[in-house]
Amino acid sequence: MYRVSTPNVLVVEDEDNISFLLESALGLAGMEVASVATGEAAIARIRTDRPDVVLLDIMLPDVDGYEVLRRVRNDGWSGPILFLTARDSAAERVRGLTSGGDDYITKPFALEEVVARVQVALRRSGHSDEVTLRVGELELDDEAYEVRCKGDVIHLTPTEYKLLRMLMSNAGRVVTRSQILDHVWEYDFDGESAIVETFISSLRKKVDLDEPHLIHTVRGVGYAIRPPR
Ligand code: CA
Repeated sequence: MYRVSTPNVLVVEDEDNISFLLESALGLAGMEVASVATGEAAIARIRTDRPDVVLLDIMLPDVDGYEVLRRVRNDGWSGPILFLTARDSAAERVRGLTSGGDDYITKPFALEEVVARVQVALRRSGHSDEVTLRVGELELDDEAYEVRCKGDVIHLTPTEYKLLRMLMSNAGRVVTRSQILDHVWEYDFDGESAIVETFISSLRKKVDLDEPHLIHTVRGVGYAIRPPR
């Protein structure tokens, strides 16, 4: 049976005590946590483990967090990165976000805040701790690996299921084609977004035949699922 996998988090932090605290807090929140203390180790680990989210300290003993981010993005890994840093200047914050980071956490931080932000990043990227997702009369039940529409079970292929799950965990938000490619297929199709359209169209035929439609195309960007207004 399909299970929601435990999210994998990589902590990149050279201060042992902070790293230890983060590992314990995220572990308690039900995540699988690995940690490394240098930028080079982080790059190697992201390549091999492809974590679901990375907490990345900016000041590291070898290459800094920005360089780690640049190199893993070059490698084609597009998962969420949350920067950790003691530097609380607007310029650093802007640099962290414009260089492709998803969030920016300033030290000292409250552990609950870090856990909450990691959970938000996971939900955005299609990992969710909710077991049953609902949009309008459509339900996706991860425990039963089942999709129901008005109570009727609908049979989906594993890829259709994963795609619908990603849309539903981001209900109300636009999910871009590249996010879908990366999350649902987990590797880079080199911009072959036609495959996404094909799967969206088969999904529509199975779960979204009735008006008002739930799945919306956002031209040139991606898709969003929304409950009827
Ligand atoms: Ca540091």
